[in-house]
Amino acid sequence: MRLVLVGPPGSGKGTQAERLVKQFGLTQVGTGAMLREAIARGTEMGRRVEPLLRAGLLVDDPTVNDVVAELFRAPDRPDCFVMDGYPRTYSQAIAFDALMRQQFLSLDAVVHLTIPDDEVVKRISGRRCCSNPECGVCYHVHARRSKAEGRCDHCGWPLVLRDDDKEETVRRRLGEFHKNTDALVEHYRRQGLVRDVSATDPVDVTFANVLKALGK
Ligand code: AMP
Repeated sequence: MRLVLVGPPGSGKGTQAERLVKQFGLTQVGTGAMLREAIARGTEMGRRVEPLLRAGLLVDDPTVNDVVAELFRAPDRPDCFVMDGYPRTYSQAIAFDALMRQQFLSLDAVVHLTIPDDEVVKRISGRRCCSNPECGVCYHVHARRSKAEGRCDHCGWPLVLRDDDKEETVRRRLGEFHKNTDALVEHYRRQGLVRDVSATDPVDVTFANVLKALGK
């Protein structure tokens, strides 16, 4: 099976990707992870993109397209996969279509996780994460409270609201997501590939709905 998974930050996209990998033995193609690896290896490209990742800005389309093209042109290219975080813009989707054609591969579906922006804000801005850099466990003021108020269960360090998780930042990221992704989803919708799945329910229910949407 060859899938693209699309969903806003806070939709649980990463978790659903992991479940799909486990259930169907797919290769997870995460461009964020590939870029972080290039940064860790200190390659020329890694050094170029590092400030963008740090600022939470998108890397330019040609660079990300090259990273993905290199993977799919390699002799051990993934055959069955779930794309997690790519394509992220309309222009990346066009480039990915061309790459798939060139490699004689075709997509089976685009799973589109949907969730109201306000629900995402509630989910993310309720996160409280351990300030100990070696721990980093996250809790939630509604869904997963620590035993002692404001303290990590594992190491006792104070829990904090990360800058990334503040409402203003989350709304800005959601705005960016819609600006870049709405046109991409419509592009795939015209090809009859999009399966909309609500991501408002708990993880297990959402995964069951993903399977149903895929006819599995
Ligand atoms: P992620 O792990 O998917 O949240 O990605 C982390 C960061 O990597 C993003 O904030 C972007 O800076 C960069 N990135 C990952 N995938 C893409 C993509 N498809 N297009 C542009 N930038 C990306």
